[in-house]
Amino acid sequence: MKTVLSCIQPTGDIHLGNYFGAVANWVKLQNDYHCYFGVVDCHGMTMPYDANKLRTNTWNMACQLLALGVEEENLFIQSLVPEHLQLSWILSCVCSYGELSRMTQFKDKMEQLRSGDKDVLASSGLFIYPVLQAADILIYQADLVPVGKDQEQHLELTRNIAERFNHQFNTDFFKLPAPLMTDVPKLLSTADPAKKMSKSLGERHYINIFGEQDFLIKQIKTAVTDAGGDPSVMSPGVQNLFTILKESGDQSSHDSLKKDFESGTLKYSSLKEATTEALLAFIHPFKEKYKAIQDNQAETTERIIHNSRKIRLKAIETYNQVAEITGIMSPNANPF
Ligand code: ADP
Repeated sequence: MKTVLSCIQPTGDIHLGNYFGAVANWVKLQNDYHCYFGVVDCHGMTMPYDANKLRTNTWNMACQLLALGVEEENLFIQSLVPEHLQLSWILSCVCSYGELSRMTQFKDKMEQLRSGDKDVLASSGLFIYPVLQAADILIYQADLVPVGKDQEQHLELTRNIAERFNHQFNTDFFKLPAPLMTDVPKLLSTADPAKKMSKSLGERHYINIFGEQDFLIKQIKTAVTDAGGDPSVMSPGVQNLFTILKESGDQSSHDSLKKDFESGTLKYSSLKEATTEALLAFIHPFKEKYKAIQDNQAETTERIIHNSRKIRLKAIETYNQVAEITGIMSPNANPF
């Protein structure tokens, strides 16, 4: 069975875009692959963040992933597996400054920082973030990494780092991870369908699966539908509602409302009502499961720690071999 790795940053509650664009795919992949899914809290330190919120967000995200169907034995928290950070240092010694400065995501984030508070630190952690990402992947010797367009460049860097390591130490130790391209829907902000649904735009711009029901209902009700263009061409906002309706599992309403659109008789209010109904029914079991998990907090925390420790055994195995190859001491092995 091939190994798949994918991670998510604990930036807050999981929204519908995260679910349909990433987590739903993770849940399916578990049937065919040996999966590692990480909540990468150390990555969350690369941009300005609130230390009081990071740990709570990390636990909440882990619990939400469990509620959404991620198997607990596949789930780990990055800071509970410190070998990620140790490997990251070693990999940074085979990764060039030039390679990192070409990363477009770094340039974008620098731009974001510069346009905000002038006193904010552009950290070297942000600069070497893709090396930590390479370590996340290589520590488990992952064969496949599900990637979206925005992460393709980072995976390419991971492959280059693995290849350079192998070449420099005259070994074939690291596998070169391949991208796993999956056709996942991209959701748009219902408040501004010109933009991607995202947490970074503010709460109006993402549908929080675990948020207040009334707010969600309002978000769909007030979703922007009309782009003011040719009415026979579907606007991105309407397309987005159709996507949510379909992904929420109501194929028959989707098809009949699509026909209405094609014949020019679609009422946006009907589309919104059907979408709200389908979505609420779809997320109901997730919310119930999340509540049950939260009610059992002590036990869940223990299970997450226990599973992260089990996953850590694989990371230690890789790290020990890397230490051996690179000539440093391994804290886990007898040096003599
Ligand atoms: P956000 O932009 O809300 O902070 P992240 O960048 O943390 O979300 O994304 C986490 C995962 O969710 C990634 O795999 C990303 O591709 C996916 N994702 C995020 N937003 C969307 C969206 N609007 N549509 C589809 N997938 C998305």
